Amino acid sequence: MSSSAARSINQIITSRRSTEGGGFVVRRPFPTPAVDHIDPFLLLDEMGPADYAPGKAVGAPSHPHRGFETVTYLLDGAMEHEDTTGTRALIRAGGVQWMTAGSGVVHSELPTEDMMKQGGRMHGFQLWVNLPAAKKMAPPRYQGYEADELAAVPLAHGGLLKVVAGVVHGAVGPVETTSPMTYAHAVLEHGDVVEWKPDTGHTALVHVFDGTVTVNDQIVGEGDMVVFDRTEGVVRVLAHEKKAQVLLLGGQPLGEPVSRYGPFVMNSRQEIVQAVDDYQSGRLVQ
Ligand code: MN
Repeated sequence: MSSSAARSINQIITSRRSTEGGGFVVRRPFPTPAVDHIDPFLLLDEMGPADYAPGKAVGAPSHPHRGFETVTYLLDGAMEHEDTTGTRALIRAGGVQWMTAGSGVVHSELPTEDMMKQGGRMHGFQLWVNLPAAKKMAPPRYQGYEADELAAVPLAHGGLLKVVAGVVHGAVGPVETTSPMTYAHAVLEHGDVVEWKPDTGHTALVHVFDGTVTVNDQIVGEGDMVVFDRTEGVVRVLAHEKKAQVLLLGGQPLGEPVSRYGPFVMNSRQEIVQAVDDYQSGRLVQ
């Protein structure tokens, strides 16, 4: 165990499951009327878990993005991704896709044909990551990794830590992020502990999506997201009763104005008007 001081908790956001348009079951810690974004993160959606009957699985048909990154991490199910950069990719359980929309992308994320025919369980996360002003109009980029390509660290009591981006427990995630960032998923068996030292000054979040844990000695239940102060200190997550799962998210705050409208996130209202105009006139995608 580390002897470093615990990072102080700023607030705990409670989220409940709701059904979005199209039949998506989501749990969304933010944005909410109270919390618009947590710099540099713009949105976190837990999709499902939902058990779809044959023919009933739902996805997101063709839609645009500009000015940020969309990150899909799938725990159960299978999706097919297609976008205007020409990328066509399968996202399977345990896999991640990190899409930098930059100047503009139109994409779709739909259940695979198998998943549509047979139905099945869909469970995963979508995270929206803001881009610095200087990179908002950069060319789009797609990074996809399968479950076995993520960094994995076995924990002492049988759990597993998977690192998508950044460094936790010495494991380095494969994703190249635009600004310094951490994205990790911990499956904690009873007694397992994860210790994480986010960079001082960076945002640090722990989203508990399965079971109950203690986070820096505070009991935190399923659906709760811990937002830490940006001070120096360690984040310590322990499964003290039974199995639990959390996401760890960390990132350097951009400290820039955020102007958002649906699938577009820019720095000013004028740039949003431009994005809508570009999309409507077919100029969003270069
Ligand atoms: Mn999208």
